[in-house]
Amino acid sequence: MKAELPLDDNEKRRLVFKLVSQLHCLDCGRAYDRDDFSLAHRWEEVWVLTSQCHHCQGRSHIVIFMHVDAAPGPGCDLTPDEARSVEQLPAISADDVLDMHLFLSEFDGDFEELFTG
Ligand SMILES: [Zn+2]
Repeated sequence: MKAELPLDDNEKRRLVFKLVSQLHCLDCGRAYDRDDFSLAHRWEEVWVLTSQCHHCQGRSHIVIFMHVDAAPGPGCDLTPDEARSVEQLPAISADDVLDMHLFLSEFDGDFEELFTG
């Protein structure tokens, strides 16, 4: 018997920021600060954050796929460059409730188009 997703939006947001605050800048390799992130887009199971490193001002995006007891799928079309950076990242599990897969990329296009187009 599978439990319903118990997290409300605030819980998700808290979890997301907790996870991304463990990430390191792609450009300079130093740890991000929580304040470096802002939420850019949000769908049901896909959140997109933008980050600007407070050390080097490097900008990137973090795409978070949330799955409840689900195996990650390819899901979206990544460019070879993006796929490469994805491969370097471990999947991060949070509390056995959500499997969140964080994709860092320097993709600077239209995410709306990427996921819905
Ligand atoms: Zn940096």
